[in-house]
Amino acid sequence: MRNTCEIATAALEGFIAAARERDLPVLQQTPMAELSDQLDLTRLITKGGLHGDTLRQFLETYLASATRLHHPGNMAHQVAIPAPGTAAAALVDAVTNNVMAIYEMGPSAATVEFAVINWMLAKVGWTPAPLPGASSETACAGGTLTSGGSLANLTALSAARQRAAPDAWQQGNPDNLILVAPAGCHYSIKRAAGILGLGCNAVKDAPTDAEGRIIPDQLKDFILEQRQAGNVIMAVVANACATAAGLYDALRPVATICRELDVWLHIDGAHGASALVSATHRHLLDGVDLADSLIWDAHKMLQTPALCAAVLVRDHRDLDRAFQQDASYLFHDKDQPGFDFIHRTVECTKAGLGLKLFFALATEGEQAIAAFIDRQMALCVQAAGFIGAQPDFEVAAAPQSNILCFRMTGDDALQLTLRKKLTERGNCYISSTEFRGRRWLRISLMNPATAMIDIQTLIAEIRVCAHKNASSLAVA
Ligand SMILES: *Cc1c(COP(=O)(O)O)cnc(C)c1O
Repeated sequence: MRNTCEIATAALEGFIAAARERDLPVLQQTPMAELSDQLDLTRLITKGGLHGDTLRQFLETYLASATRLHHPGNMAHQVAIPAPGTAAAALVDAVTNNVMAIYEMGPSAATVEFAVINWMLAKVGWTPAPLPGASSETACAGGTLTSGGSLANLTALSAARQRAAPDAWQQGNPDNLILVAPAGCHYSIKRAAGILGLGCNAVKDAPTDAEGRIIPDQLKDFILEQRQAGNVIMAVVANACATAAGLYDALRPVATICRELDVWLHIDGAHGASALVSATHRHLLDGVDLADSLIWDAHKMLQTPALCAAVLVRDHRDLDRAFQQDASYLFHDKDQPGFDFIHRTVECTKAGLGLKLFFALATEGEQAIAAFIDRQMALCVQAAGFIGAQPDFEVAAAPQSNILCFRMTGDDALQLTLRKKLTERGNCYISSTEFRGRRWLRISLMNPATAMIDIQTLIAEIRVCAHKNASSLAVA
């Protein structure tokens, strides 16, 4: 094992260093058929031999066509550049393989998960769960880690359904069950509605302003109208922040209405809940503690390798009921030394996801993560100022997070062409999205190595692409 890991570590160190130096493109799209040959996959699968020099050779080819997240020009997707220490956590998890949904199968892994969940609950302002064995009669919050925000949304909404339609687990859904969510919610909300059997049509668009934020003043009437029409509202979903432009819904007024009308409020904080760690930015989630459930991805802004997402609920019993009708057990009633997460998750074999997050936090302490978040937010404001000041560019909305949408003067098709050309050149990697009915170029500033020089390079690269586009049109 040591030999194999040493070969891999050496290769990865070279990979990171080259990316940081901007020596190689962020990405290159080698055709799969070619790559499959280069990697010699079929022969290796049948004959084996992935040791020593063969392993070195394989990793060299593999990493050459890997997308370089560590490259400062990588601004495309909401994926963490993992903190260096987390690689060791992934190794420990892979070797011990202590899948821990049942405590006895991985006491250390379960204890670490319990601790990081409690850390998150405290950041939300909810009551962390007492350690099993501690006698406590007070209500407490709860949570679990799961494999991604999409699964976390499904889990939280399954918990919401148990409250709105307690018979649904056995009998199936009543046909008047609906969700209320802003149209710009992540697609996993509609997907969850499909999986839960409500159907995507049961997701009703919440009233929103031009930038896609819920209008609290209109939400109340909307809910009352839906009830008047005979519908039962399973949950209101709010974004913190929305995926497209990274804008936050006003959680406190939305939550106040949900409390008043006794509706479950689910907050999708997959990307943006990490602002809770920052004293400077946690105000963006003001009122989050009034919600019933929240999801929070560590593999986005907490520098944790994929996948590590949290489902958190204000009352732990809601999550214990998420996948069954009767889960009246309380953890302190159980006669065992630890805690089982199995009731709270779709997964049966459940990886020890907490260790990677724990390493991300504990290597430098949570203050380092807070400083990272503050830095990325400040960079985004600076980038918006710079791009907005260019005569040939326009910014979609003042950023509230580390996500920014902008476009070059021209139509929607131009933005798609620019992104395509940019990706072919490979020096910068960005995404694109629809927002306010138009197509935008989009950056997520996830990389602690990205600086203003990279934003300037990006704009210069886009101009080169636009120029080429114009000259190719002229030739045509
Ligand atoms: C990324 C994201 C998700 C999905 O999370 P995954 O971990 O990618 O499954 C859900 N909601 C929002 C707002 C997101 O940004």
